[in-house]
Amino acid sequence: MSLTRRHFFAAAAAGGAALATRPLVAAESGHAGSAITPDAALATLKKGNQAFTMGRAFNYGLNDGQRRAFLAGQRPFATIVCCSDSRAAPEQIFETGVGQLFVVRNAGSTVANPQAMGSIEYSIAHLGVPLIVVLGHSSCGAVKAAIEVVDKDAKLPGSLGAMVEPIVPAVHTAHGIVGDLVENSIRENVHHVVHDLRAPHQRLLAAPRRAGKLKIVGAEYHIGSGIVEFFDVE
Ligand SMILES: [Zn+2]
Repeated sequence: MSLTRRHFFAAAAAGGAALATRPLVAAESGHAGSAITPDAALATLKKGNQAFTMGRAFNYGLNDGQRRAFLAGQRPFATIVCCSDSRAAPEQIFETGVGQLFVVRNAGSTVANPQAMGSIEYSIAHLGVPLIVVLGHSSCGAVKAAIEVVDKDAKLPGSLGAMVEPIVPAVHTAHGIVGDLVENSIRENVHHVVHDLRAPHQRLLAAPRRAGKLKIVGAEYHIGSGIVEFFDVE
């Protein structure tokens, strides 16, 4: 664990309780805001991912006292909008433990439904999270399915068609970009979601952004290397 992360954990601890490798949490912060800035939250994620790529063992366990501390509430430092893909688990790829990330997941990392948007808004407006990361990943099956829909007019069964529909505009945009269509579609999908979340009409997100208390960034997790590449940072 880096010095910075230790400092963060100490800052996040409740009442100066002793820390081992896990942060203890303060009570739910309401609108009080996070203990750390958006930039500090981003730096913590970057350092965690750097550690993850080194392949060292990381202890995710909690002792009794640490578990009980979470009864008082949660104070995550980042909201991750990511894909359901089993290879892209955010707590692991950022080497964070219980209570540190607020995760909104669905196949394709989309936010075009009130359940996803409401979850994100809750984390910002109620928990005071200072950072949203929209995290795509390489080899995303949902994005590949959206490409099938656009290029081959594929009809997907059940709810799968509706699930990938929000990704379709990203595929259209990616068709105008030189390079690998899947990779470009993955990135355009992230750009589209980031753009949606930064829109002025997202009132619960716009106000803390204007106040400098929230940043919204886009990233891609590369499955093979383990590296999270932040490519849409404000
Ligand atoms: Zn995926």
